Amino acid sequence: MLRIDVITIFPGLLEPFASESIMGIAQERGKVQIRAHNLRDWTTDKHNTVDAIPYGGGAGMLMKPEPLVAAIEEIAGPKGPQREGKVILLSPQGRRFDQGMAEELARESALTLVCGRYEGIDQRAIDVAVDCEVSIGDYVLCGGEVPAMAMIEAITRLLPGVLGNAESLDTESFQGSVLEGPQYTRPAVFRDLEVPAVLRSGNHAAVASWRKERALERTKQRRPDLLDEEKTNQPPARSEEPDGSDGKN
Ligand code: SAM
Repeated sequence: MLRIDVITIFPGLLEPFASESIMGIAQERGKVQIRAHNLRDWTTDKHNTVDAIPYGGGAGMLMKPEPLVAAIEEIAGPKGPQREGKVILLSPQGRRFDQGMAEELARESALTLVCGRYEGIDQRAIDVAVDCEVSIGDYVLCGGEVPAMAMIEAITRLLPGVLGNAESLDTESFQGSVLEGPQYTRPAVFRDLEVPAVLRSGNHAAVASWRKERALERTKQRRPDLLDEEKTNQPPARSEEPDGSDGKN
């Protein structure tokens, strides 16, 4: 079971998300446990303060290091080799989240996701307690809760036994560096637009080959960079071995 702890000042945003639909089913099946923790529970003053003005001036407030580090260390343990799993800070400055990273993180046993708010977080809390920073894209949101939910959903659906039809993962966009091609359901004709005949032919080999061609065509049109990346990641052909050998050594 993958344990996901989320540290946030708005646990109420996570709770319905974690209990509905696929996330709810994954929790019921014991594949994942998602817990939202209120950062204010680790404050020590009567106002439960989690933020303060930035040193050196500037706009807005920053999250203070003490409650954050106390929360992270209680939930995930102190930073170091004995820590189980990873502590990830959601940040627009982090490594970009993608399907490959979702697959990597789905192999962990525990993840602690730290949601920033305000103008961000005191650097010392990051240095002392965070293992890595992850961004969901080059834009700035008000907090890390939506990025955390996006990550949780992308990771959880990859866990064995979560999706009803595990085969659907194999043909999805980003599996094998291509996008999924166009898909059709009933009715066979909609506003004079017919479902391609091959999909109704019952010929499984022809359907598979049609889907492969459409997927490649769509990827070339919409995301040629994925095909370029795949070429770059291919091992060199024998004649192209850097040392000029045939690669047998
Ligand atoms: N001042 C920060 C900066 O310029 O990098 C942005 C702070 S943002 C308003 C507040 C919080 O939202 C961040 O600490 C982070 O947790 C979260 N956040 C915003 N955009 C994000 C993104 N693209 N990916 C991940 N987290 C994001």
